[in-house]
Amino acid sequence: MGEIAEDMLDGSCCSLCGQYFEHPQKDLETFRSVGIYVHEYPVACWACWTPGCGYEKAEVKTF
Ligand SMILES: [Zn+2]
Repeated sequence: MGEIAEDMLDGSCCSLCGQYFEHPQKDLETFRSVGIYVHEYPVACWACWTPGCGYEKAEVKTF
């Protein structure tokens, strides 16, 4: 995790609201997410995304 602007560019967080994306994989002992999911490109979260927003839709949900 770095600067939020960097995290938006690499798709670690929503480019519109800054919410971080939860990795869909769970830790088998704690049942918690293994961490932040990185898309590798800028995305908008499911709450923010609209067809004309100019971003790809996120593949996973936010925390
Ligand atoms: Zn968002």
